[in-house]
Amino acid sequence: MDVRSLTIDQIRAGLASKQFSAAEITTSALEFAQAENAKTNAYLHFCPERALASAAKIDELVAKGEPLPLLAGVPIGVKDVIVTKGVRTTCASKILEKYVPPYNATAVDRLEAAGGIILGKTTCDEFAMGSSNENSAFGPVRNPAALDRVPGGSSGGSAAVVAQGTAVVSLGSDTGGSIRQPASFCGVVGVTPTYGRVSRYGLVAFASSLDHIGPFSRNVADSATLLKAIAGRDPMDATSAFAPVPDYNATIGQSIKGLRLGLPKEYFVGMTSETADKVNKGIKLLESLGCAVQEVNLPHTEYAIATYYIICTAEVSSNLARFDGVRYTARSEKSDTLSAMYSNSRGENFGAEAKRRIMLGTYVLSHGYYEAYYIKAQKVRNLITKDFAAAFEKVDALISPVSPFPAFKLGEKVDDPVAMYLSDIYTITGDLAGIPCMSVPCGNTQDGLPIGMQILTKHFGEETMFRLAQAFETAGGFAG
Ligand code: GLN
Repeated sequence: MDVRSLTIDQIRAGLASKQFSAAEITTSALEFAQAENAKTNAYLHFCPERALASAAKIDELVAKGEPLPLLAGVPIGVKDVIVTKGVRTTCASKILEKYVPPYNATAVDRLEAAGGIILGKTTCDEFAMGSSNENSAFGPVRNPAALDRVPGGSSGGSAAVVAQGTAVVSLGSDTGGSIRQPASFCGVVGVTPTYGRVSRYGLVAFASSLDHIGPFSRNVADSATLLKAIAGRDPMDATSAFAPVPDYNATIGQSIKGLRLGLPKEYFVGMTSETADKVNKGIKLLESLGCAVQEVNLPHTEYAIATYYIICTAEVSSNLARFDGVRYTARSEKSDTLSAMYSNSRGENFGAEAKRRIMLGTYVLSHGYYEAYYIKAQKVRNLITKDFAAAFEKVDALISPVSPFPAFKLGEKVDDPVAMYLSDIYTITGDLAGIPCMSVPCGNTQDGLPIGMQILTKHFGEETMFRLAQAFETAGGFAG
């Protein structure tokens, strides 16, 4: 059986009507994924025993005629920065190469409780730092749409498994664009929910005030279903929100007539002509569905990249201090003093990008510079958040490109970190403000490279975001 074209609802219906069993889906999805993986390296490792054990539980429910949970039998890939009890979680770093967590992330617990089948862990940039997946210590991922190109990052593996059909949906994480940018590069749906909507418990911390877990899927409804399954208050994460979780699938399908859309002026500069062309066509389509479009201003956008790289590196330098050769990690054998053991363990096992950020972050937090950099960046972050609040007084959602360009060639930007950082120009602001945002496909370049369109709404405005995205998908917007 072939799960490549199945949706979450079709799988649940097929199980209930005994068209196939969860064991059959899981076995065939695993076989296909393992065979295809050589092309893309999108999975870092598989967990077949766990997957088959989850499938057996679903087949028992079917045998007893009990109702099937939301994600029953759905093959899922999980980014390798999200911990899985008893299954290696490496963060694509040598420093955690052998780390086997003793607990599950809350999102993992919830998706398994909802009947989801985790096939394996997906490749990413080391500790989710990067925009191309080339910072993985275990080799980059190749874009299924063009194997000589990057899939985007840092959740490139999670985007690629969905695009390649080696998972039906997947989980990624987004700190500055790491769900939306790979979704746009690979031609799939990727959602960054409101900050606090999904518990971060068990997401290995990169920049805690910016980190989000979110779904990837081939259609809008599947991301809405997956988000519903994992969202909601978790006592293990003090920043998780108490707000009740709506049934996102209940409002999608409703008309979008009369919704007011804002086009942020600052986001429509500096992109390739093909990207501009597809996004503009997407906006015209939304207008034809009855949305009213106006230009809006987000005046502090120009400071977003600088602000992000101060706040995120500051948090990195603190969060990554725990990897010291004593706890969790690889220990250098070459050291005869304790402090040499710390520095050798870190020096030998962190990659170049992680080291660059630890050093930058230590610098911006240091005595004498803290006020000039860190405190100032926090103030600018507040201004960026206020820009969005002002825009959402006038409009229901914002539309923009996701990335200035489609997937680039492997190796093209590796020697130029600043060029790599600038590629996140349209996505970083959403994380700084903590608002929900997503990428939906809006067509391909002449060379067949996917392009994504971004939809952003106010805090906890996911229902409007999904409603717009689904109307766009139904009207043929994905095909551009
Ligand atoms: N590309 C950005 C960075 O390198 C964002 C990464 C992310 O969202 N995890 O930090």
